[in-house]
Amino acid sequence: MRTFYHPDQALHDPKQFMRFGKVVAPKDLPERTQRLLGALAKHGIAPERPPAHWLQPILAVHDEGFLTFLRSAWERWQELPAERGPEAWPNTFPYWSGRPDEDVRPPCRPTGFIGQLGWYLGDLSVPVGEHCWISTLRSAETAVSGADAIIAGERFAYALCRPSGHHARSDRASGFCYLNNSAIAAQRLRSTFSKIAVLDVDAHHGDGTQQIFYRRPDVLTISIHADPSNYYPFFTGYSDETGNGPGEGFNLNLPLRHGAGGAEMAAALDKAGDAIRAFGAEALVVPLGFDAHKDDPIGVLKLESADFAAIGTKVKALALPTLVVQEGGYAIEAIGNCLDAFLGSVME
Ligand SMILES: [Zn+2]
Repeated sequence: MRTFYHPDQALHDPKQFMRFGKVVAPKDLPERTQRLLGALAKHGIAPERPPAHWLQPILAVHDEGFLTFLRSAWERWQELPAERGPEAWPNTFPYWSGRPDEDVRPPCRPTGFIGQLGWYLGDLSVPVGEHCWISTLRSAETAVSGADAIIAGERFAYALCRPSGHHARSDRASGFCYLNNSAIAAQRLRSTFSKIAVLDVDAHHGDGTQQIFYRRPDVLTISIHADPSNYYPFFTGYSDETGNGPGEGFNLNLPLRHGAGGAEMAAALDKAGDAIRAFGAEALVVPLGFDAHKDDPIGVLKLESADFAAIGTKVKALALPTLVVQEGGYAIEAIGNCLDAFLGSVME
């Protein structure tokens, strides 16, 4: 199994997160990567450092204006008055329904920075600090290298991505995510495989990945997540979102009741497996989050660490070339055990 990680991904160190109307300590701590690296080391795995792939594979799924914004946001933030906060953070949001059957948004109209902040940053969990862009770029490149390993014939690869990606839409960051690593990887795999399935098992709906592929029949997007009617990302993730136009029938959402545990996750994985087989997927991308763990500080599901071994077993049973992309998981003491359990079952 080949694995990838770039140390620059740990530079991203957000300072602010809005929760229940208060600015609180962020949840995506750099220490997360140390815990996950520790789990890899337990299996004798030292990840490879991905080469620089730069923007080309990212532009295959993301809007150019959005990338220009992300790359320049920190520098432009420095031009604001001295009483600005520690990170680029929006204070205005455009009207947008969030409905998945809408076409992509028109280009961003404001040329000024404050308006662009509101357009390109979808909520208050994606501040842009000094090292945000370099970590985000390296995280995406880690996913690209993972896809390249699968293209080169590897049966199983793991991309230790941070920041996470699955909430990033083609033209918008949100939910701790700036670029959609899993979508970038899935698109990269399309150069070799004609049908890709994305099986997202993070506790939150993979809304960015859904949006990017919503009108396409060549990438089946499946997300198993906590019921969004009272959980982030709120506006999408419902079971009646099935794709649009040529993509109709190629999106499957499997929301779980809050409090659900390993048995319900396993049942949803069986449904997902049936859909993946019926689709005829040639390769699989698994956005893997550990925030379904019972100890997660922003979680509502009740999985034990050992339940991630069962997820690994079901993923392995699909018998497809598989790239696992790291997404969320914020219980610092638990996420290493979750990855350890998952790897143990897929490497068996
Ligand atoms: Zn999550």
